[in-house]
Amino acid sequence: MAEKISQCPVCKATDFSGFLEINDYFLTKENFAIQKCDGCGFKFINPRPSKSEIDRYYQSDEYISHDAKRVNLISRIYKLARVFSIQKKFKVVSSYTKTGKILDIGCGTGEFLRYCKSKGFDVMGVEPNDKARVYAQQRNKIQTTAVLPELKEYQGSFSCITLWHVLEHVHDLNDTIEKIKSLLKPEGVLIIAVPNCNSWDANKYGKFWAAYDVPRHLYHFTETTLKRLFSEHAFVVRNVLPQKLDAYYVSMLSEKYLTGGSNYFKALFFGFWSNFQARKTGVGHSSQIFILSVKKA
Ligand SMILES: [Zn+2]
Repeated sequence: MAEKISQCPVCKATDFSGFLEINDYFLTKENFAIQKCDGCGFKFINPRPSKSEIDRYYQSDEYISHDAKRVNLISRIYKLARVFSIQKKFKVVSSYTKTGKILDIGCGTGEFLRYCKSKGFDVMGVEPNDKARVYAQQRNKIQTTAVLPELKEYQGSFSCITLWHVLEHVHDLNDTIEKIKSLLKPEGVLIIAVPNCNSWDANKYGKFWAAYDVPRHLYHFTETTLKRLFSEHAFVVRNVLPQKLDAYYVSMLSEKYLTGGSNYFKALFFGFWSNFQARKTGVGHSSQIFILSVKKA
């Protein structure tokens, strides 16, 4: 059964307004409504597929983060970008964490953790997708569990927890943040990357913006709503960093949804322009990385 949200996950307000009606361009073509909280401006799908229903929206060979062998041009670019982005992610992690254990929630096939391990870190992953998790365990030799509660014995033991484009997929948003908090060392750092629905490319493409990705993306964050959500859990944002490659990738997919074709040059230009506008106007980048830690009592 589809579930209806009656209370804003960020500010607990109960009045929402319609924001956009969007099709699942990626897979089912079904239509979903995004609502905006009248209290804090947080945007989310409402109603949304329940936990038990959501699986079928991931049933595609094209769902790239879980797929190892793909052939078309976008996937080749994506793979190249992935190598580059793993190094970028590690650079972020290692500038805030020098030693200890890293937990990657939504680790997919485990490539990022394998890289961290090769650099001397202890690593663990959480991945609900069976296929991806088995790949991470068997091929990349990463210790993984299917869900967070299985990590109970690891309370307070991670010096860094990462969620790379994962938080927007999580049903139990506030519960998950509390669990993360309990797993983190008191001085640990939480690193979260999410799309920014306030970015230039989000405004340009409107309902064709690929990072709306309904119904897989349940929430659409801005810098303001993410900061507020985490402040409710006593986290402070220490830094916000851009993920500049995402502007190109999202523009490429959005062009496809908008026109049905692959307008690579247009996408390149709009990706570049989005990154340029992010700095110039302060709307933020297409996707951003938030560095958080728990407020000292
Ligand atoms: Zn709200």
